[in-house]
Amino acid sequence: MSAPRTVIVTGGSRGLGQGIVQSFLDAGDRVATCSRSETDAVRAWQSDPQYADRFLFREADLADREQSTQFVKDVLTEWKSVDVLINNAGVARDGILALFSDEDTDTVIDLNLKATIHVTRQVVRNMLVHGGGRIVNISSIVGLTGYRGLTVYGATKAALDGFTRALARELGSRKVTVNSIASGYLRTEMSHGLDGGQLDQIVRRTPAGRLGEPADIARAIDFLVDPRNDWITGQVLVVDGGLTA
Ligand code: NAP
Repeated sequence: MSAPRTVIVTGGSRGLGQGIVQSFLDAGDRVATCSRSETDAVRAWQSDPQYADRFLFREADLADREQSTQFVKDVLTEWKSVDVLINNAGVARDGILALFSDEDTDTVIDLNLKATIHVTRQVVRNMLVHGGGRIVNISSIVGLTGYRGLTVYGATKAALDGFTRALARELGSRKVTVNSIASGYLRTEMSHGLDGGQLDQIVRRTPAGRLGEPADIARAIDFLVDPRNDWITGQVLVVDGGLTA
């Protein structure tokens, strides 16, 4: 078995992030995560003796610069270096652009884009000092194909893919790979915003015939962060059951 890695997964308290945290814990890694509130999943990890010294949770609103800075500081104080960063925390607000509020626009951009950039910048400084790392940004097929009612969300996810490509160029020679996973529609709270008709239509149009599960994305992450995969960087890997094929 390979040496345990130190992993940050943002927004790991539920949904996709919860599945990603569990997958790294199952692999024997040390995992730090944060969200604005604790969940049963977080409490279960905290009280499970097998994760006693390799699970760290902080309540933090990543859209708040001070709180996101403190979260990364706490991880570095505890474990000194970060090997893997999974930028998963994200928020969607539904509504046609003509009626979209400034507040919703800021909420989506502040978390999906600005917080991701800020957390990544802090972690990258550490990865440069420690000689390498793996970064995976969770984007979305909405950033590739667009989806009515998700214009601002789609803009942030397309921007994340651009961020991935540029950062991969900056860090390629420093043994840090940076990739995006453009996820298809998953069965999480976020997709509860879609009505039954929309979800049925998505499933009908998906060659694999179902919505995605967090484990579908966690397996793709596992591949991208494998230490042997140091020649895959700056890519957007679409994991969507074939919906955009
Ligand atoms: P989710 O079920 O809504 O979970 C989002 C996670 O992020 C939660 O842990 C949430 O905890 C945390 N979070 C939200 N706002 C935060 C903030 N300001 N600061 C810190 N943490 C925050 O969403 P999901 O479906 O798992 O989505 C995860 C990622 O996958 C997102 O980037 C999303 O865009 C992407 N994605 C999802 C789908 C889908 O169909 N679900 C498809 C493509 C891509 P708190 O609310 O307690 O803070």
